[in-house]
Amino acid sequence: MPTIFSHGIVAVSASSFFKTKSDSIKFYLLVLFCSMIPDADVIAFRFGIPYSHWLGHRGITHSILFSAILPIPILLLFYRRDFTFNMRYLLLWFVFFLSTLSHALLDALTNGGLGVCLYCPFSTERFFFDFRPIQVSPIGKRFFSDAGIRVMQSEFFWIWIPSIVVFGVSWVIKKILTRITFHYPH
Ligand SMILES: [Zn+2]
Repeated sequence: MPTIFSHGIVAVSASSFFKTKSDSIKFYLLVLFCSMIPDADVIAFRFGIPYSHWLGHRGITHSILFSAILPIPILLLFYRRDFTFNMRYLLLWFVFFLSTLSHALLDALTNGGLGVCLYCPFSTERFFFDFRPIQVSPIGKRFFSDAGIRVMQSEFFWIWIPSIVVFGVSWVIKKILTRITFHYPH
């Protein structure tokens, strides 16, 4: 996996296009949660579930189905009062869906471990992209080693720089849109 921070920055930068002013801190914290929670599946190792099992690491929590379902309890818990069946609400579901799925897609760009179980539970096939530039992150203490430094370098180049650029572009677009709205003759 890429490090947990890199999963977070990708989701935050992508979702910055959708940010709403009134609830930005809650919104971003939930985006971070969605992007990081799939790796809670490492707990499966403790129960002796093998990596390759659909309940194992990069299994069901790295699937499209999980990404689609996770936003529902989040919306019910944190956006219940806003509930109306309109585009804004659907967009919120979509952003949390995308934030969760971004985790699996990033994992599919790494050069180690097993692929992600994208179509789980309908298929247990594991997927990687053909292009896998991201150095896989060592788990646990091994992270603090030469391998850990190589991971940070590869993530900085392939994840952090593009994410910062995306965040900057969305910031500029929103600034421009705000000005257009402000100067629009009523
Ligand atoms: Zn993962």
